[in-house]
Amino acid sequence: MKEKYMITSVKGFKDIYGEDLELFKTARKVLEEIAESFAYEEIITPIIEYSELFERSVGIDTDIVEKEMYTFIDKSVRSVTLRPEITASVARSYVEHHFETKPLPLRFYYFGHCFRYEKPQKGRFRGFYQFGVEAIGDDSPLLDAEVIDIGYNIAKKLELKNLSVKINSIGCRKCRTIYKEKLKEVLEPQYDELCEDCKKRFYTNPLRILDCKKESPELKDILPKMIDYLCDDCKKHFDSVLDYLQKMNIPFEIDNTLVRGLDYYTRTVFEVISSDLGAQNALLGGGRYDYLIEELGGRPTPAVGFALGMERLVEIMKSQGVVRRDKRLIYVAYQQTAFERAIFITEKLRNYGFKVFLDVKNGSFKNQTERSAKRNAEFTIFIGEEEVKTGSVVVKNMGTKEQKQVNIDDLNGFFKEQRNV
Ligand code: AMP
Repeated sequence: MKEKYMITSVKGFKDIYGEDLELFKTARKVLEEIAESFAYEEIITPIIEYSELFERSVGIDTDIVEKEMYTFIDKSVRSVTLRPEITASVARSYVEHHFETKPLPLRFYYFGHCFRYEKPQKGRFRGFYQFGVEAIGDDSPLLDAEVIDIGYNIAKKLELKNLSVKINSIGCRKCRTIYKEKLKEVLEPQYDELCEDCKKRFYTNPLRILDCKKESPELKDILPKMIDYLCDDCKKHFDSVLDYLQKMNIPFEIDNTLVRGLDYYTRTVFEVISSDLGAQNALLGGGRYDYLIEELGGRPTPAVGFALGMERLVEIMKSQGVVRRDKRLIYVAYQQTAFERAIFITEKLRNYGFKVFLDVKNGSFKNQTERSAKRNAEFTIFIGEEEVKTGSVVVKNMGTKEQKQVNIDDLNGFFKEQRNV
């Protein structure tokens, strides 16, 4: 018989399972709980959009649109794209469904798979998941501070360390145009020294030269700072965002080279950086996008939001030993003659919300205990003929090895107390 070769997953895409999946699920739950506690509502948008949505929003001269999109022609000869990010879809949805008729600002959160044809490396995949929030319909600096506060709360709730918030303002159409001219004026004598990408950016998107990793710190030092060129309104807005952050006790650093890679940003831009992530160190990134809804055919509508990479969050949780809260397992071991009682107790505990594994192979308690240990159970419950008679079970704490007889009516209270819930 001809041997079949193994089919692997597509390069840059990965299966999520085991410990990573447990952390992924814990993280998703915490993210959603926090967003809901800030009165953000979930929105689910399609995984595929007409290509022009991203061309018009993310921007034709960005790396994402230029090099990284999974774009193809469908059977009705329309160009469609697997979403490289989700903000554009939320904005499209806002315009399409006339959300402007609702009380503003609207607050959304989303979770979903994104696709970018990038060079896979640590923290960078072709298929990855983003969680994000968007507050649409108000230009108050308090909203900028609010979305940053959500990011900050995520870190706090998951007890993440070594994170910092970097913030900058890239102004509005008016002041950014003046700044770009100034930037080009200073860069022009250096043009020949620029990397190949930056030579192109000089004409298409000079702001991106500020955050190019290939350019030297010496070059960056001589470049003018956007915050020195902000118009009065943008300056007032930025100062106000910083003031709110201070009042909310959120530590931050101003980073004059932070510009973000997507065209739709205006005024505030920010990132949460982790020193545990290596080169791809941004856990989340976001900012204001006051022109996006207008670009997509809606009324002028200011908005602000961020997107967080789930894989990077899991990576940080793993390296910092964050444990999934509901990982803990109760293992039920029993003598064959006590099988019906074992089933009864198993079902009861599952109904109380515990995660319970009923031994399958049966046999001696010794063998069942070994299997329980292999599954890293937190507790093993033993049910034999004696326990059936007394209406109790023996509970063994697999960590401390302590054993205790517990009446079956007291099991719920016993486990809750043990776990401090
Ligand atoms: P962006 O949409 O580029 O502003 O990215 C927001 C966040 O999404 C980043 O801070 C990352 O955590 C995550 N992210 C972006 N691109 C990738 C990728 N190719 N692989 C994994 N995570 C990514």
